[in-house]
Amino acid sequence: ITLGMVLMTAERLQADLDHQANHDPLTGALNRRSFGLLSEKEMARALHYQRPLSVLMIDLDQFKQVNDLLGHDFGDQVLCCFVAVANRVLRQDDVFCRFGGEEFVALLPDTTAAEALVVADRLRVSFATESKLLDCAVKQPCSAITISTGVAQLQQGEPFASLLRRADSALYRAKDNGRNCCEVAQ
Ligand code: GH3
Ligand code: MG
Ligand code: MG
Repeated sequence: ITLGMVLMTAERLQADLDHQANHDPLTGALNRRSFGLLSEKEMARALHYQRPLSVLMIDLDQFKQVNDLLGHDFGDQVLCCFVAVANRVLRQDDVFCRFGGEEFVALLPDTTAAEALVVADRLRVSFATESKLLDCAVKQPCSAITISTGVAQLQQGEPFASLLRRADSALYRAKDNGRNCCEVAQ
């Protein structure tokens, strides 16, 4: 019985460690490390089955201002809210992760750029709506907190790093175009 209990505890510890290694502690989203591993699998699958694969590079707008005006704790709450919305809007098969800071990335298997743009815009509208409901520290109605998104579809023979770079360039264009919008990479 004692050995059984030791083994069970060791198994649970290992599961905890695995979870910590793969998830962001604040939001519970997958972290960048696990994104690297899962994206390799999705790339291989897309190539093997000749299926489209798209990526969304997402960045919260004027987030420094949100922290400065409403406090860092509220900023943390906003990040958690965004992850909850993304988990609701995205499909089970999509790979969603916190890329760092207020930047997130989603990999959408079996999805063209045109379809990914529809998803990105649904995410944008849902989060803007939801963020207005957050209870901000200054106890006054908050204006919407928004996101900008760059969308790119994997091209024939393209390395994954290049796909991410194109999505990132599209994200920069979305910022240049005034934020709270989605742009598709060429
Ligand atoms: P832009 O619209 O151009 O993206 O402007 P921005 O203010 O969102 O971009 P900037 O890179 O200037 O600021 C990002 C901010 O995100 C600054 C940083 O303190 C905040 N941030 C990053 N990680 C966290 C976090 O875990 N919690 C909180 N509360 N803030 C964070
Ligand atoms: Mg930002
Ligand atoms: Mg950023």
